[in-house]
Amino acid sequence: MKVSIDRGTCVSCGSCWEACPVFFEQNPDDTFSQVVEKYRLDGKIGEGLLPADLEPCAQNAADLCPVQIITIDTT
Ligand code: SF4
Repeated sequence: MKVSIDRGTCVSCGSCWEACPVFFEQNPDDTFSQVVEKYRLDGKIGEGLLPADLEPCAQNAADLCPVQIITIDTT
């Protein structure tokens, strides 16, 4: 599964990395959410490959995002 974060719209609320720190973290430079290095897709900080066992965690983070910018592609 592919996950993307529309980082330009992130408000750095922290909900995603608090809910699912194994997959999301705060970028120390711009303060926005990013995918942890281990799961990044092609090295892009706003895109990741989500293992199936982490889907509930990432989905919870996506649901909690106040601006709904975390997209999980389950196809
Ligand atoms: S929950 Fe959404 S707005 Fe909050 S830090 Fe994560 S991506 Fe940004």
